[in-house]
Amino acid sequence: MTKPTEDRALAVRAELEKRFAGLALPTRPYIDGRWTDPAGGDTFDRISPRDGRLIARVGAGGARDVDRAVAGARRAFDSGVWSGRPPRERRLVLQRLARLVEEHAEELALIESVDMGKPYTDALAVDLRVTVQSLDFYAEAVDKRYDEVAPTAQDRLATITREPLGVVGAVVPWNFPLMMAAWKIAPALAVGNSVVLKPAEQSPLTALRFAELATEAGVPDGVLNVVPGLGPTAGAALGRHHGVDAVAFTGSGEVGREFLRYAADSNLKEVSLELGGKSPQIVMPDAPDLSVVARAVANGVFFNQGEACSAGSRLLVHRDIEEELLELVLAESRRLVVGDPLDPRTDIGALVEDRHLERVLGYVRGALDEGARLVLGGDRILAGTGGYYVEPTVFDRVDPRSRIAREEVFGPVLSVFSFENTEEAVRLANDTEYGLAAAVWSRDLSTAHRLARSVRAGTVWVNCFDDSDITVPFGGYAQSGLGGRDKSLHALEKYTQLKSTWIRL
Ligand code: NAP
Ligand code: MG
Repeated sequence: MTKPTEDRALAVRAELEKRFAGLALPTRPYIDGRWTDPAGGDTFDRISPRDGRLIARVGAGGARDVDRAVAGARRAFDSGVWSGRPPRERRLVLQRLARLVEEHAEELALIESVDMGKPYTDALAVDLRVTVQSLDFYAEAVDKRYDEVAPTAQDRLATITREPLGVVGAVVPWNFPLMMAAWKIAPALAVGNSVVLKPAEQSPLTALRFAELATEAGVPDGVLNVVPGLGPTAGAALGRHHGVDAVAFTGSGEVGREFLRYAADSNLKEVSLELGGKSPQIVMPDAPDLSVVARAVANGVFFNQGEACSAGSRLLVHRDIEEELLELVLAESRRLVVGDPLDPRTDIGALVEDRHLERVLGYVRGALDEGARLVLGGDRILAGTGGYYVEPTVFDRVDPRSRIAREEVFGPVLSVFSFENTEEAVRLANDTEYGLAAAVWSRDLSTAHRLARSVRAGTVWVNCFDDSDITVPFGGYAQSGLGGRDKSLHALEKYTQLKSTWIRL
């Protein structure tokens, strides 16, 4: 894609800044169809990572606010005002919500970009587009699914029907804030549940605006509640709540484990977890076109500042083409522009917050200590802006046992490893506690298929990376996930339970 000229870019940025300054940002919990003050009266600051400036003080929901949200959600569920509506009517409401989100896409993308630092152009082209797709997909699906009749004896009729769970808690991270919320909210609402969402403290604003649009679209009061707040208070209250029937979580493995403990210590609510990854890209010597591979490698790890659970953070390359591919990857990486998320020339925006910046830089220092060879980047840049920017960073000759090789950095850092044969490639690829995604590059059909089968991951891309569609499930093997998948019709399984009904004829 050709980049706009400097003049044009600065004009676009100025226009976006002006528009952002004119927005009335939503900053309070949205419970039972209205804005409410948090019971404790606490707030937390939203600092924009693009310049380190305060953009909002957001009401911090706590246990009492979660209580009220869950009570409202339960009331709405039990009343049947949403759960009891014909699926076709829920479809119409969710489609109306999809249209409203579409109409407000630029506003929502702008809020997302300033709140958590991703390029505005990506927020619009990816996050908002996929959010709308999710709403449309589950809305359209829900009045076209049939339940089952079991093949029992002639004098019995046994039906197997799917019922909503009741109150679903959703807890999401900051890297794709609205999109990941929509992956959970859309299927959960489509089948009739009520939802209480706790967005990440770094990115609560779009979810709050979304809740307001849901009311405008006709989602009844109490059916969708958003409680911004901190993980250990609001998040934990939701996880421990006896009135919550299921929690759908995306984030770190550490917090995912907490939700399993919360469930065990309270009411054994259903828990589904979408966790991290350390996704390998395996490049065989007969890869179709190394310049295409190089572009996919650079974009695959640096997209969204590397803050993506599926980021291709490990490049496994055959020794014969290692040097050539690495040169091409470095060239592609140098082409990527790090800068202000509101500048349309920007490919890589700001890391979400100062703590995370320190964490990522800590991994870089650790990798150097562990003997990896730094071949690109490695530093914070544009510090004068007050924002949290890191250069695309590449390490070569990485020890597979080192931390940089094993832990999720969640920043713009690529580790390169080489292998001599297919067995070694598979061993390296699977030498991880994660299993979210992987890519295989080979022109040979059998090699590609064999590798795709051998790699333990929920998604395997062959001769591509990051292809995705709402029709295709997303989620991980091993410690990358538990309890079902996001996206596709399979996600509906997470938000329903089976009822068997026996009728004696
Ligand atoms: P996180 O700490 O797992 O947070 C995810 C969500 O859980 C947030 O809404 C968070 O609230 C909440 N939470 C935190 N502690 C909690 C607790 N004790 N009880 C209940 N809820 C709690 O993830 P993060 O802070 O966003 O990022 C940390 C690391 O997680 C990243 O560096 C990355 O490795 C990984 N991560 C993975 C994904 C993914 O898509 N798989 C996404 C984001 C992050 P607060 O915002 O208030 O903390
Ligand atoms: Mg956190």
